[in-house]
Amino acid sequence: MRALVIDDSRSIRRVICNMMREMGYETFEAGDGLQALAQLDTHGVMDIAMVDWNMPEMNGIEFIRAVRKRPEYRDMPLMMVTTETEMENIGQAFMAGVNEYVMKPFDKGMVIEKLQLLGIGV
Ligand SMILES: [Mg+2]
Repeated sequence: MRALVIDDSRSIRRVICNMMREMGYETFEAGDGLQALAQLDTHGVMDIAMVDWNMPEMNGIEFIRAVRKRPEYRDMPLMMVTTETEMENIGQAFMAGVNEYVMKPFDKGMVIEKLQLLGIGV
């Protein structure tokens, strides 16, 4: 299984990638939405994309909207990884097509639980 980890914080990317690798995922990284679209175009559809909200160039919500417009990525599971202050926007994220969300700070148990809700648990 393959996971795309999208966050402008390198340290957060590292934490999430390590977590996903422990669960048996091959991981790909992007520092913003544009890089994430490029990774998808290079490597193809992923089993899950973990998407930060606040990023330069193209933020998480813009990325989600862009992905959902593309037929080849329309059904790709998307999990928003968000901070509590962004919770008020979470409805907007679901409207845009996100499947699940997990709040920062998070732990492996929370991520596993959300993956299982998506039917792609380990
Ligand atoms: Mg960020």
